[in-house]
Amino acid sequence: MAEIFEYAPAPESRSVVTLRDTYDLFIDGAFTPAEDGTQLTTVNPADETELARVAVAGPVDIDRAVAAARRAHENVWGPMSGLERGKYLFRIARIIQERSRELAVLESMDNGKPIKETRDVDLPLVAAHFFYHAGWADKLAHAGLGPDPRPLGVAAQVIPWNFPLLMLAWKIAPALATGNTVVLKPAETTPLTALVFAEICQEADLPAGVVNILPGAGETGRKLVEHPGTDKVAFTGSTEVGRQIARAVAGTPKRLTLELGGKGANIVYDDAAIDQAVEGIVSGIFFNQGHVCCAGSRLLVQESIAEELLARLKTRVTQLRVGDPLDKNTDLGAINSAAQLERIRELTDSGESEGAERWSPACDLPENGYWFAPTVLTGISQAHRVAREEIFGPVLSVLTFRTPEEAVTKANNTPYGLSAGVWTEKGSRMLWTAERLRAGVVWSNTFNKFDPTSPFGGYKESGYGREGGRHGLEAYLG
Ligand code: NAD
Repeated sequence: MAEIFEYAPAPESRSVVTLRDTYDLFIDGAFTPAEDGTQLTTVNPADETELARVAVAGPVDIDRAVAAARRAHENVWGPMSGLERGKYLFRIARIIQERSRELAVLESMDNGKPIKETRDVDLPLVAAHFFYHAGWADKLAHAGLGPDPRPLGVAAQVIPWNFPLLMLAWKIAPALATGNTVVLKPAETTPLTALVFAEICQEADLPAGVVNILPGAGETGRKLVEHPGTDKVAFTGSTEVGRQIARAVAGTPKRLTLELGGKGANIVYDDAAIDQAVEGIVSGIFFNQGHVCCAGSRLLVQESIAEELLARLKTRVTQLRVGDPLDKNTDLGAINSAAQLERIRELTDSGESEGAERWSPACDLPENGYWFAPTVLTGISQAHRVAREEIFGPVLSVLTFRTPEEAVTKANNTPYGLSAGVWTEKGSRMLWTAERLRAGVVWSNTFNKFDPTSPFGGYKESGYGREGGRHGLEAYLG
């Protein structure tokens, strides 16, 4: 087996980031402490050092932010022409590009994901989302949604920790382009880039109240989505919390979109280009430590090539570099929190105790911080928890199939329906399979590719509504 090639450390400089000791809420265009003074601590998951104290929004702060968003919507942002709104969005997009190195480093520090990904994936996509939606702002009458589509009003938005700034962009860019104002709650473990985004709104001279950022944990999120002063709720996170929100919003006039969990199948047929498929499997489950709602966490490989494919996959996984997220050579960074690490451990152990065979390459994990080695589970049946439940970590569950019908049946045998991959050299087989998969996005001979022009969303317990593309505008227009 090929030895892992030794690289000299190549750490990205932290000096582009100026961390403050404390970060306040962003309400009505200004930073203000929480009314009751509550704060949370955000830590670097790679070494457990404290990064900053962050204000936690309570009911009074939420009232203020929602009122500010309402005023801004009625007096400034709603009546403004699309052309003018577009200028602000272009300005925000350009400032994000100018500050992208700072934002990439800060995201890696707060989240634990490798700088290679924040620099080359998250930040370019964040800017692309603002540019794309800036272009729509003055063309909404041509979006096929009627001659004069109207904004809904104030949007309450709650996002998770796995792509903190990218999920913010997916939420805020379409809302603003369509003339809505927002109150957004970032996740409790990753609030920092959202607060730098608030600075960017100031730098762009965005009118006060158009964007409000309220850090906090689940309780802040619950109070925000239940607040009677909002017209729209957009949530990305777990299916469990999504269900609670659907119950809370039911019977109110609010519009709701939910982007929830997934258990994506990555199907590899016997005619697939095997080395390319191996790359796609690796990116499908180990990109962002597997903290990806649309991860290809279930590998479905045709039985006749399973042995060869698994051998090559293990060779490739052995070459992954796990460690310091700020090192430019790192492929797998830290797990975002102690709680998430515990969940990954518990589910992976359950796989073993249900009879799965567990494999990880030999790799030295750092002593401090939250770490989990890339893991492959084989000998799994569809009844195993690791084949059904979302692990949300770097753990691949491998199943086999003999016929295309069996592949499709197994792929669809999940309460989720967010993503899937199909690897084959034959176009007709790819189309036959894609047509039968109940998944919001199906990639062919690639995986985890994102673009602001492309709608993204799920079936079944993966949620409803679409984000991105023309479809995503609809969720913010009446
Ligand atoms: P989570 O549901 O625990 O938290 C998500 C957000 O909701 C956080 O900001 C949290 O503070 C907040 N929250 C918690 N309880 C709440 C409540 N009762 N009311 C309102 N808000 C509340 O999920 P997580 O563990 O942070 O994120 C991981 C999950 O997100 C995974 O299941 C993943 O699949 C999903 N996800 C989905 C997509 C998608 O586009 N479908 C994208 C990224 C992540």
